[in-house]
Amino acid sequence: MPLRRLACVASLSLAALAVAMSHDAIAQDAGMLGFTAGHAAAEHTREQALDASVSTADLDAWLLRMASGPNQVGAPHDRDNAEWQLQQFKAWGWDAHIETFQVLYPTPISESLELLGPHPYTAKLHEPAVVGDRTSADMPGVLPPYLAYQGDGDVTAPLVYVNFGMPDDYKALARQGVDVRGKIVIARYGGGWRGLKPKLAQQHGAVGCIIYSDPHEDGYYSDDIYPKGPQRPPEGVQRGSVNDIILYSGDPLTPGVGATADAKRLTRETAPTLMKIPAIPISYADALPLLQSLGGPLAEPSFRGALPITYHLGPGPMVHLAVKSDWSLKPLYDVVATMKGSEHPDQWVVRGNHHDGWVFGAEDPLSGQVALMAEAKAIGQLAKTGWKPKRTLVYTSWDGEEPGLLGSTEWAEQHADELQKKAVVYINSDNIDRGFLRVEGSHELQRLSNEIAGDVKDPETGVTLLARQRARALVEGQNPTGARADEIRKEAKAAASGGDLPIGALGSGSDYTPFLQHLGIASLNVGFGGEAPSGGEYHSAYDTYDHYTRFDDPGMKYSAALARTVGRFVLRYADADAAPVDVNGFAETVGGYVDELHKLADHAREQTVSREKAIKAGAYTLAADPMRPMGAPELEAAVPPVAFAPLDQAAARLKASAAHFQQAYSADAVAALPTARRAELEKVLQSADQALMDPAGLPGRPWYQNMIYAPGMETGYGVKTVPGVREAIEGRRWAEADHFAEITARSINAYSDRLDKAAALLTR
Ligand SMILES: [Zn+2]
Repeated sequence: MPLRRLACVASLSLAALAVAMSHDAIAQDAGMLGFTAGHAAAEHTREQALDASVSTADLDAWLLRMASGPNQVGAPHDRDNAEWQLQQFKAWGWDAHIETFQVLYPTPISESLELLGPHPYTAKLHEPAVVGDRTSADMPGVLPPYLAYQGDGDVTAPLVYVNFGMPDDYKALARQGVDVRGKIVIARYGGGWRGLKPKLAQQHGAVGCIIYSDPHEDGYYSDDIYPKGPQRPPEGVQRGSVNDIILYSGDPLTPGVGATADAKRLTRETAPTLMKIPAIPISYADALPLLQSLGGPLAEPSFRGALPITYHLGPGPMVHLAVKSDWSLKPLYDVVATMKGSEHPDQWVVRGNHHDGWVFGAEDPLSGQVALMAEAKAIGQLAKTGWKPKRTLVYTSWDGEEPGLLGSTEWAEQHADELQKKAVVYINSDNIDRGFLRVEGSHELQRLSNEIAGDVKDPETGVTLLARQRARALVEGQNPTGARADEIRKEAKAAASGGDLPIGALGSGSDYTPFLQHLGIASLNVGFGGEAPSGGEYHSAYDTYDHYTRFDDPGMKYSAALARTVGRFVLRYADADAAPVDVNGFAETVGGYVDELHKLADHAREQTVSREKAIKAGAYTLAADPMRPMGAPELEAAVPPVAFAPLDQAAARLKASAAHFQQAYSADAVAALPTARRAELEKVLQSADQALMDPAGLPGRPWYQNMIYAPGMETGYGVKTVPGVREAIEGRRWAEADHFAEITARSINAYSDRLDKAAALLTR
């Protein structure tokens, strides 16, 4: 593993490294965002105490303890972990309690999958124990692999292979004359969020859905398999939720309200996020005989995985799939610990990670959860020295994240009014591995994120996290290719110029979603990754303490770095003289998104014209191999001009308002304000992001109200920025694009209004 790291640094020129390093020094000289010069030194001292308090021995012991039994929702060990954490928080001086909710959480009663026909095969659907792994499988309470919220059923039908099971795959199948109506589809993991696979299968008329891990994406293709190496062994299965969280996250039966015992509930039949067809996840050992049995057209190159077979599309022999679940309500145990602010008790800094996993959950989520606990312990120790945070700290350990962000969503919905009045920020983490710092979130926190990255040391190289990020950006920026090329170019440009490195935007897939996208609270997700040669344990019974400490983060060094990084975010926010935001970062980012939308529409327009020409000239038919006939794509209507003007104007005004506000805003300026005016300013800033919410929400999903950040309807976890407009353009719904350009412009203008108001309070 160290070889990888050396190779990366060695390929970077010394001059570039010097540039990367010197910017850290510049950032430090510029002072501390949100602090007056007089208060910054004491903050530095506290952060050094935080660093010293974080102990890898603690992290290791907690991981071993919490990952010692299965901890899915409803498991005794999941509850036991919650109660144990509660005691820890209390012992560290926090005011802590457990909040419970009652949620729909199906667990398998029976599952079976059989290949019928000339070469029958019964799928094993079982992950055997692995030599040298203390927990791995076969422990009491470990459930067989399953997909939570699939539809149950007993079906027998011919099998069809649909590649990743994403929209483009179905288009390609149609052009080859393969129809999935009445069939059972088998899709490989990858290409988009898991939950879209059964959803799109049922939309296309399939009666059942099988998802398997192909070794090309997840197995021996990329590294040795467990236990020799970290990758998925043949029997390893990725469990997961197919709850349609693109509509709303949380308990499927209680959208918009907390799932308390007496909450009004939808029925299972009317809950729109539940799948209707049976679905099951399987290993590549179980998938091999199924795929091998398929006849029909040869799969095109982009459909081929890494199994030792020739991939065909089918339809193949009959398959029998049956799934039956226990659909009873199960309890959730959210641990909530608070430390009251001494100056601003009604400004809350909320920090969260989840504690439930699919089986033992060492990497996902406990690698992040133990870091959160290390922060809480360190902050408790600081409080014992007489220090008190100025703002209230709320540390949360969520239950039920894996099935669909249940614990965080129900809590956020239950306390929505209070959170919208009081929460100033939500800071999330989840599973991490060794590698680079990765921060995504609200872009007014981009400056703070860069500042903190410049203050924390990378545990393996000894340089700062920011120096490593800059170095990587310079190296990757040499010749970027692939889907991320534009993003990489942007990072490289920022790194070369010494500006702030951009942070990513948040889609979904972890507990920030209800805060950011439903309540409009500025949010961050902080993690590490990109160097552990792993992922092979993801959502399987092999996500264990032994696997994690051998491959993902030996010595728990990156869990410790996470605690030091997020602990700083929390402490800076807790103690700042003025909220540590820089809205110029947000204004620039929004301007960039609007530019992208123009390009997206232009590209769609040009492509429509050139494709129409090719179709009308008969080019698709003539270019196809006559032995393998392939139909032409469907003709699409011409792309009209999109009414971007309101959005262009709003983005330009936002830039001006942000610059004007930021010029007047500093910790010293805020400290000099009369008390009442300062309170008014803080109120305006605290809720500024709520201006980005539109109460009617996004088309077909009113729960998602943030007009800047949302998970994509067709990407699942992946973000769509300015989603109302972007998804309308991508879906060629032109009237909707015009409408949302106006709605989004209105939200951005409302945000600018708040900045103007804040600037007036500062300069009056
Ligand atoms: Zn997780």
